[in-house]
Parts: sequence; structure tokens; C-alpha cells
Amino acid sequence: MQFCINLVYDTINTMIIRDRYAPSPTGLQHVGGIRTALFNYLFARSSAEGKFILRLEDTDRTRSDESYVQNLFDTFKWLGIKWDEGPQTAGSDNGGPFSPYIQSERSALYKKHAQILLDSGNAYHCFCSAQRIDEVRKQREEARSSETGYDRFCRSIDLQEAAKRAAAGETFTVRLKIPLGETTRFNDHLLGSIEWKNDDINPDPVLLKSDGFPTYHLANVVDDHLMEITHVLRAQEWLASTPLHVIMYRAFGWQPPEFCHLPMVMGQDGKKLSKRHGATSIDEFRKQGYLPEALLNYIAFLGASYEEGTDEKHLDAKHPDIYTLDELAQRFSLDKLNKAPAVFDYKKLEWYNGQYIRMKSDEELASLAMPFAKAAGLFDCSGEEIPAEPQRCKDGGEPTERQRDIFTRAMALVKERLVFLSEAPEKIAYLFREPEVPAAEEFIPKKCDLGKTIEYLRIGLELARVLAEMPDDEKAENFIKAEAEKRGIKLGDLMMPLRAAITGSRVSPPLFGSLRLLGSASSVKRVQRALDKLTAKQI
Ligand code: GLU
Repeated sequence: MQFCINLVYDTINTMIIRDRYAPSPTGLQHVGGIRTALFNYLFARSSAEGKFILRLEDTDRTRSDESYVQNLFDTFKWLGIKWDEGPQTAGSDNGGPFSPYIQSERSALYKKHAQILLDSGNAYHCFCSAQRIDEVRKQREEARSSETGYDRFCRSIDLQEAAKRAAAGETFTVRLKIPLGETTRFNDHLLGSIEWKNDDINPDPVLLKSDGFPTYHLANVVDDHLMEITHVLRAQEWLASTPLHVIMYRAFGWQPPEFCHLPMVMGQDGKKLSKRHGATSIDEFRKQGYLPEALLNYIAFLGASYEEGTDEKHLDAKHPDIYTLDELAQRFSLDKLNKAPAVFDYKKLEWYNGQYIRMKSDEELASLAMPFAKAAGLFDCSGEEIPAEPQRCKDGGEPTERQRDIFTRAMALVKERLVFLSEAPEKIAYLFREPEVPAAEEFIPKKCDLGKTIEYLRIGLELARVLAEMPDDEKAENFIKAEAEKRGIKLGDLMMPLRAAITGSRVSPPLFGSLRLLGSASSVKRVQRALDKLTAKQI
């Protein structure tokens, strides 16, 4: 699709924001890339008719890979980021209503624009072989020369002669003719006015490769112009390419977009975020049991701040940091970006995840945690006890109806304690299979001995049936408190051995809820089993 050359303005003459995320599919989507995508998405959404565009910059055919394209689609889908435009409605399962723009499908456009630069004398044919370029590099190394990059050997070839050689079939690339002795200036929204001496820019970079494919620089500038991109928000590592791009915009006679190079994302040690610090690819976070909302909410704060949530719709007034995507978009502004590098704090991200987990209903949480439970084999319990259900579970780790029900109700027991979805199966495994009877020490309350503990557990055995049938925690608690008082026993001393018998540990999700989920028969059986083991130990 072609666009008209003027910038788009709406009726009241304010610029309509058009921005883009333009990844090269040469790796998995990671925190830094998704932060760029998110800021562009939020910025476009922050204005009434703003448009967020997805463009695959796959001109490096050797490094681009279909699996990374799929990873991009999967990541966007999981995070709920949608783009607003594309050459056609999507046929593939890419999560959006449009296919993205794909540079490898637009080669003719770039060739045409390389020719425009050739015709205007802003670019030239270069016939240097890779071998010659390598020799120049070696000679410079030997001479300990500080010069780098192309030596502009073909810059002086007569234009007509060059055109003839190209037409005769000689292999060529097209290089940008950087005007020497000048300075290129542009404004970066965040970093202010930037100046670059043209002589210091990578000398005459290739725009069109010998195979007719464009390089990043040519395709990026042509597309940003044709797609009427008003703002380029991208990682700071591209800052050094921007003077070159500005030179190209001028050579074409086009107005450059506004640039905003985003602050780096660092680990706690001040070094660029990498695998050494922890997960970095979005896929890893998903597999660890993060919720997409939590990750997005946290990433949105990497280098940006937002107005405090004061409107009624704001999710949680107690936590002004918690925002939906829409709320973030309403508050996003380039003026609230920070210049300083952002520090990725895994602990803070965990906090976000916990908060979002607690906001889920039991049903929602159960369906989110279910894949983790199946993968962990929680329901794959052939031959083992299934609470209150004598028949074996289904094959393939699928839960039975009863297990699904228990799983959903168990979410209420662990919701307050979960940091990751992936922790759920382990925390509630005792509800799906009888835990090992733990060592005697696990049962024994402070200042007690084994004899006393057995005595308390016998009482626990009497109480377990009633407790398992109590309709709610409050009634169960009142009941056991009254029993403890009546018998002159501390509540904790009565509960600890019972907890160890039921859950297999002295630290566990809430006891009363566990008893209810197990039902009286299983509960009594577990206490009896523990009692038998402890009594045997005593003899
Ligand atoms: N294809 C470049 C990248 O991977 C895009 C840079 C830009 O946004 O201009 O990251």
C-alpha cells in the first residue's frame, strides 16, 4: 500500500500519531524489544486516531528465520498487543486482524528508491568485491591505520560509466554518497539536539546489496516515509544510524519523522540486561508462570512514569502502579520518559505478578494454572489415591471433573501465596495424592514431646471428620477453638500435628480449606495413617 507524502493531520490540525515496531526476526522477542513495541503501542493509543504499525524488517535473509516471526506473533498474542494496519487482512494465525508489513515482500519499492538516489547523484554504484574490501581492511590493520569502513573507492567513478557497467551485468551494490565536510543535526525528543560530523559517519554505507535486497538503512527510511510514520521510538543502539537516516531523508527531499531513542534497559549491576541477570525472552517469562498483564505493566515502567491513578476506573487505588493497558495508554506521554537507563528489577516484577494473581477469580486462576498442573503431572496419578474418588484419573494428564473442581476450589487456598502460576501444582499436590507421612519432628509443636503430640493427634482424629464437613473457615475455626479450650490445649498445639498429617508439612496452605477439599473420609484416613506411624515410632 502506498501513502501520500504529506503528514496526516486531522480536522483540528493536530498531528495524528503513526508509529511502528520494526523488529528484525533474527531472535526471540525479549524485554528490550517488547518495551519498544509497548511504548509505540501506548503512544499511538494515547491519541484519538493514532495508529500502531508492525513491520518485519527481514532484509537480512541469512539471519531472519520463520520461527522468530512465529515467536513475534505468539508474543503479541499472549500480551494482547494488536497492530492497526497491514497490507491485507491476515490469513495466518498471527493474532491480529492484519498481516504485518514484511520488507522481503517489498523489494521492488526499495530498488525503485535506490534508483531515485542514483539518479539524483546522492548514491553511486560500487563494484568493489568483498575480496577487495577485505584486502583494504587488512592493509589498514598492517599499517595500524585508524581508518575504518569503506574507502570510497567507487565514489569517483563517472556516473555514466558506472551506469553502463551496471547495465552490462557487472555485480554492484548501491552506496549512499554522504556529503563530506558537513554536519548533520537532528532533534531527539529525549536527548535533545544531536550533531554529527558527516566525516565521522560510517563511510558511504551500502543501501542496496548485490542480490538486489536493501539494507536496513534503505528499507527503514523508505518504509517510515511511505507509511507516514510521524514518530520513531526505538532503542538507543540505533542512535548512531540516525544521522545517516537524516541524510537520506534530505537526499529524498522528505521530512524526517520525530526521533525518540529510548533509554537502555540494565540489570541491577548496571550492565545491559542479558541472560546473566535472569529471563529476558518473553517466552521464558510465560513458561515461568508470569501473567501477561503483570509483565506488560512492569515493562511499561521501564524508563517511563505515569500520572497517578485518580480516576474511578483505576484498578486499585492502593497500588497506583497497577494499570491496565488502556489506563497506561491514557497516561502515556513522551514527556514522561526518562533519559536515565532503566533498571530491570526481577523482584518488582514478581510483586506485580503476585498482585495480578490475587486479582483473578478462582476460576480464572484455575484455567491459567491448569497447563502448568497438567505439565507437572498433577492429575496423572494412576494407582494413587484421588480424594473422594476411587476411580483412576484419565490418561494424558487430563483432570477428571472432580479433580478439576478440586483444583479450582484449591485456588482460593493458594492465591495469596503464589508468585508464579507454575508454583500452584506443587503447593496443592497434597490434595491430589497422599503425601508421605513426614518425619516425627514435623508434627511436634514447640515445647512438646512425641507422647503429647500423639495425644493431640488423637484428638485431631476425632475432630477431622467434623472439620472437613464444616461449611466455612469461620465455623471450623470456632469449632476447633472451642474444642481446644474445653480440653485446656493451646490451639496451635492441636493444629500443628493435624496440619502435618493432612498436608504432609507444617508449612502449608490453610488447613480448614484443605480438610474441606479432601472430605472427611480422606482426612480421617490421613490422620490415622500418621497416627499409626508416630505410635510405631514411640514403641
Ligand atoms: N529492524 C530494527 C531492529 O531490529 C529496527 C530499528 C528501528 O526501529 O528503526 O531492531
